[in-house]
Parts: sequence; structure tokens; C-alpha cells
Amino acid sequence: MDFHCVMVRYGEIGIKSEQIRAKYERLLVKNIEAMLRENGIPFEDIVRERGRIFVLSGDRRAPDIIARVFGVVSSSPVAVTGTDIKDVQGTAAALGRETIGMNSSFAIRARRAGDQPYTSQEIGRMCGDAVFEAVRERNPRVDLKGPDHEIFVEMRESRSYVFSKIIKGVGGMPMGSQGKMVALISGGIDSPVAAWLMMRRGCDLIPVFFNNGKFSDKDYTERAMDTIKKLKEWAPGRTFKIYEVPHGDSLREFIDRGNVKYTCVFCKHMMYRTAIEIAKKEGAHGLITGSSLGQVASQTSDNLMIEHYRIDFPIYHPLIGLDKNEIVEIARKIGTYDISVRPATCCKAVPKHPSIHGQLEEIERIEADFDMKALARRELDGAVMTTL
Ligand code: ATP
Ligand code: MG
Repeated sequence: MDFHCVMVRYGEIGIKSEQIRAKYERLLVKNIEAMLRENGIPFEDIVRERGRIFVLSGDRRAPDIIARVFGVVSSSPVAVTGTDIKDVQGTAAALGRETIGMNSSFAIRARRAGDQPYTSQEIGRMCGDAVFEAVRERNPRVDLKGPDHEIFVEMRESRSYVFSKIIKGVGGMPMGSQGKMVALISGGIDSPVAAWLMMRRGCDLIPVFFNNGKFSDKDYTERAMDTIKKLKEWAPGRTFKIYEVPHGDSLREFIDRGNVKYTCVFCKHMMYRTAIEIAKKEGAHGLITGSSLGQVASQTSDNLMIEHYRIDFPIYHPLIGLDKNEIVEIARKIGTYDISVRPATCCKAVPKHPSIHGQLEEIERIEADFDMKALARRELDGAVMTTL
């Protein structure tokens, strides 16, 4: 059976006010369009109709690609017919012939929208009869509770849709509905996942990578850049502005005359300060990190507290309450995992015994002994911005 259309369902957008909803729907349509174009999938048109979006494309890849657009709850390749019940029955029967095997059970799931001469139940029964007749020689059974096959029929105002497949979408909100965020991307498993979760909630990203200079190596930078490229695949129609910030000199300075046990605390605090300057320059609304409570020394609650010392800008840690295995699961799903586990030189500035329960006095001393503002300015001045 040929499918020339993809039905797209969305969730949370639907409960917004009329105005916001229309705006978000338009964004969603734009993002679907960009996703199809970037993946070289032809389509004729995209139309919005009462809580659904229809993509006119017969390309077999279209439903899966569309399911990856943020805001999409599910997608289905659908056969389109008119509203004459005979046509609907015929289409359901054809789909039944294609999907229902020997001795198996099926159910019709019927819905209707707008004025219809039949109730959903009547549509279900009439289509069920037609399907039953179509596969009678295969000894079918009707089972509404736990059927082997489901055939969905949706009769709408001017058209009807018949389908059997529902592909789960990625969910979230349309990209671009929540402003920009600066994402601190180190290329490890966590930070790309954190950035992705915020993109899924509608944020545009400005990825920032801190290059630790002599304390690091090329492979570390490459890994971070490759995860950013992977994230870009989820951001159709967008251009990423990527900042690479020289961070090695700041670390050197701290190691030379600071309390080395606090190197990681200083490092994070410094990153925040510079990233905030980038955020202000770019009109971004916050920072995103991949911190997860207790995962490593720099992410104990004591250290997180002092790292945020005197920072008056929103910093989001979307992984804070997740376990590592949950983070890994998302990383695999979004395609960054294989890149993130590539061996790379770990940071050579990490002290042998980093502080785990950082003290407030220490960060106060850091603030007094180091001109953080000047250091942040120097890092910002040395930053290189590229586009992707
Ligand atoms: P990840 O798994 O994301 O690499 P991590 O587990 O190694 O992080 P930390 O080094 O403590 O943990 O970093 C915590 C967060 O700080 C990271 O998730 C990331 O958001 C940010 N970060 C750390 N290093 C860098 C870097 N070199 N460039 C940009 N951001 C960084
Ligand atoms: Mg981590």
C-alpha cells in the first residue's frame, strides 16, 4: 500500500492559549520542513489542521525523520481517502490485507473530528466488518483488548486517514520557542546530553568549549567538536555559533599561586564567568552544564555551591538528578555516546587530591587573590568563534 502522507501529532503545544499555540505550531512546521530538507527527503506540502500536522510525502524515510523533530509526540504514515464511508472501509480493508497474518486478531481504533454522520463506534464496526471480510480466509479474530494488529481510522472534516503504524516521537517543545542558551560542552558523556535535553525543551544552543591548552590535547578538542556536530543534526535549519575559549593560561596561573586542591573548583568558577560574558554578548538566557550530583569531585553539593559563588546568572544542570546509566541511555539514543567514549587525554591540571568538601573561605580567597574579571576578559578576548 502506498502512503503519501505523514500524520504528525504533538502534545504540550496543544494545551497552550490559541495565540501561543499557533505560534508554536508554525515553528514546528518550519522545523519539520528544515529537517526534511537537510535529510534530502522530498515533500509537496505541510498543512496544519486542528491539532495535527500533515506532511505530504510518500518517502519511506519521512515518518522516522519527522519523529526526531522536537515537539513531535508521534508520527504515522497514513493512507488518505475521502469521507465516504465506503472509501474508508475499502482503504481499511486494503491495509488489513497487507498487515494481518494467519490466525491472528485485530482491532479497529476509530476516531472522528468535526461533523460526521457516524459515531466512532459505528465507524469502528463498519470498518471492522470490511477488514474481516477482506481477510476471512486467514481465520481472523476481533480482539479489542490485546489484538495482534491495530488499524486506526480517523475521519475528519474533509478527509479520512487510515494507518497501522505509530512511531514514537522525541517529544519536547519546538526548537526556537525558548530563547538561546550557552551550553558548556566538554565532549564527555554528560555535557552533550544536558545540552540536548535543553534543546528538546525549545532552546537554541551556543556551544562553548574550554581548551585547557597544555593541560590537554588535540583529541580532547576533536571529541568535543564531534559531539557538537552530532547535536547539530537535531537542530534543523539552525547555525551554531561555537566558541572555543583558551583556558590553559588561567589554569596555569592558579596552579602556580593558588591552593591546588581547589583547581577544579577554580576551573569551573572561571568557566562560568567567561561563559556568562559570552551569554551576555549573544543575548542568551542562561548556561547549561552536564553536572550530575556526586558524580565527580567537582560535583559534590559543597563544590557546586562554592563554584556558584557570587554568580548572578541562571545556570542549568539538567542532569543533576539523573544516574549515570540513565544519562548513558540518552547519550546512546541521541548518537553522542560513541563519540564521547573515544579515548582522549584527560585534564592534566586535575590535582592528585582535589577538594571534595570545598570551603566557602577558599572561594573567597580565590576571588580576593585572582582578578577573575580580568581573567574572564582575557579568555573572552582570546576566544575563537566558528559557525557550523
Ligand atoms: P562531561 O561528562 O560532560 O565531560 P565531566 O563528567 O567530565 O563532564 P566535569 O569535568 O566536572 O565533569 O564537568 C562538569 C561540566 O562542566 C561538564 O558537563 C561541562 O558542562 C562543563 N565542562 C567541563 N569541562 C569543560 C570544557 N573543557 N569545556 C566546556 N565545558 C566543560
Ligand atoms: Mg560528568
